[in-house]
Amino acid sequence: MVSSEYERRIAARFATFDQDGNGWIDREDFSVAAKALLAEFGVTARSDKGQALYAGAEAFWQGMAGIADRDGDQRITREEFVTGAVKRLRDNPERFAEIARPFLHAALAVADGDGDGAATVEDTERVLRVLGVPGDTARATAAALDADGDGRVGEAEIVPALARYFTVPE
Ligand code: CA
Ligand code: CA
Repeated sequence: MVSSEYERRIAARFATFDQDGNGWIDREDFSVAAKALLAEFGVTARSDKGQALYAGAEAFWQGMAGIADRDGDQRITREEFVTGAVKRLRDNPERFAEIARPFLHAALAVADGDGDGAATVEDTERVLRVLGVPGDTARATAAALDADGDGRVGEAEIVPALARYFTVPE
């Protein structure tokens, strides 16, 4: 069923990917996201974590372009996003996890200050906010991710959760 609520949620997901707000999703949006995350956590682009994040961002962009950029102009328009990305990712959430994982893995490493393989709930919320997830959703999502209540969020939890957020069930 196509509802105005559904359309509103699609528009919010598109806006999350369109980091620079110019009306289409392209490679630049992914490097803008990587740069913002590094700035938020005070990590340099030249560091191993910085390099991994930029490599993950490029892989994420290539994966999204492969799914959604039908005319091959290196831009994903809102129409391409709705007709390509949303439908295909909803049909195949594992595919989203696959293309997003290197970026999310690197983002978690940037947020994981003490290197124990998990980020705190607060830092997970910061990651989500920097990526443009609205404040209330970011807080609720970060808290929900910490299912066992130990205050920490690992990759095994964040990848499927973001896949659910971005694939938008109707
Ligand atoms: Ca853009
Ligand atoms: Ca296109």
